[in-house]
Amino acid sequence: MSELAYPYEAPASQALFDRAAAVTPGGVNSPVRAFRAVGGTPRFMVSGTGPYLTDADGREYVDLVCSWGPMILGHSHPEVIAAVQDAVSRGTSFGTPGEGEVALAEEMVARVAPLEQVRLVSSGTEATMSAIRLARGFTRRTKVIKFAGCYHGHVDSLLAAAGSGVATFALPDTPGVTGAQAGDTVVLPYNDLDAVREAFRAHPGEIACVITEASPGNMGVVPPADGFNQGLKDICSENGALYVSDEVMTGFRTSRAGWFGVDGVVPDLMTFGKVMGGGFPAAAFGGRADVMAHLAPAGPVYQAGTLSGNPVATAAGLAQLRLLDDAAYAKVDAVSKEIQGLVAEALTKEGVAHRLQTASNMFSVFFTDRPVRNYEDAKTQESFRFTAFFHSLLADGVYLPPSSFESWFVSTAHDERAVQKIADALPAAARAAAEATA
Ligand code: PLP
Repeated sequence: MSELAYPYEAPASQALFDRAAAVTPGGVNSPVRAFRAVGGTPRFMVSGTGPYLTDADGREYVDLVCSWGPMILGHSHPEVIAAVQDAVSRGTSFGTPGEGEVALAEEMVARVAPLEQVRLVSSGTEATMSAIRLARGFTRRTKVIKFAGCYHGHVDSLLAAAGSGVATFALPDTPGVTGAQAGDTVVLPYNDLDAVREAFRAHPGEIACVITEASPGNMGVVPPADGFNQGLKDICSENGALYVSDEVMTGFRTSRAGWFGVDGVVPDLMTFGKVMGGGFPAAAFGGRADVMAHLAPAGPVYQAGTLSGNPVATAAGLAQLRLLDDAAYAKVDAVSKEIQGLVAEALTKEGVAHRLQTASNMFSVFFTDRPVRNYEDAKTQESFRFTAFFHSLLADGVYLPPSSFESWFVSTAHDERAVQKIADALPAAARAAAEATA
């Protein structure tokens, strides 16, 4: 890349990146953080307050990533920090049951009607991996249907056409996943119920479950077509399979009951992470009590975790969820709409073909003039325009996800000053997108 592509420097971040690369593969602990899709120096952040992040060079950014979703109240929310400090002062891990995990589970069950029982884990990947194992154990079937472009964490059997970081790197599959692990996964195009019916016909009595992002955000934002999720649920019910709704990204973000609160389709199992952890490693899976009863120690399907239900993580998650009332969601939705409007206006003014796609307060921009209904559509976008757009915004202090296959996230803390900073940065970014060449 020429120096011109990145008209600013980040020497402290670069020095840290160089140090990191010596001891960590690619210099990062999660691939998309390395900026490979957009080039340039990944910003090493040192602090976050409200809607802002500050990097190692002392530059401030309006954060439109929000830690990939969790920070829905913004960074360092005083009440979440106080809950964490209180929990930490009493010890950090006991390896025994504790009241905090009961309270968090009760809060989740109270919010999401289909969630009768819930098991806490430490990451979204663990949640989906465990839900799939439980679905297989419950149905005594082997095959799983997933959709191209949906990401459910780096579970071996689900790393097929997985969108997000995998899409960013254009890895069709990953070495290390065996044919046996991938062989029981049926990958279908998203938003295509006929393909699902056909797969059930082709594998009678073999499909344990269909897993889908409740509303996908890992190929950019591609919401389910009207009736798609209900259609999945109905097909599963007719065929004795479980409908597993992955709400790791949408859960407690798209409404107080997540995407279930938006479309009302009742899953058999659900998975959660991100918002429910308040910025700590906490995640969960749950759903029908009769299915969850198959989980150890109540039932035969094994699942466990040294740090599951960790007292500090559950305190953070509970504090965050308790602050997420209707007013908080109204605020996130409103600021999301405002930013969407500004982005569309700036791109339209420069004549840049784009599609702004939304799912409640989640949104992303595709540089194409056609609707994006699935992963194939998403891949036709002009990603080189995103790269120019991204770097222009970064230079002006706005931090977007460093890939065009990701949702953007906002928080209750995105106030007028933050929105103004975005508004001020957008005209130049739109111009950069317009002038970009492949
Ligand atoms: N499921 C969905 C829908 C996700 O978006 C993600 C992560 O982005 C995961 C699962 C995996 O969660 P984690 O990164 O906590 O393992």
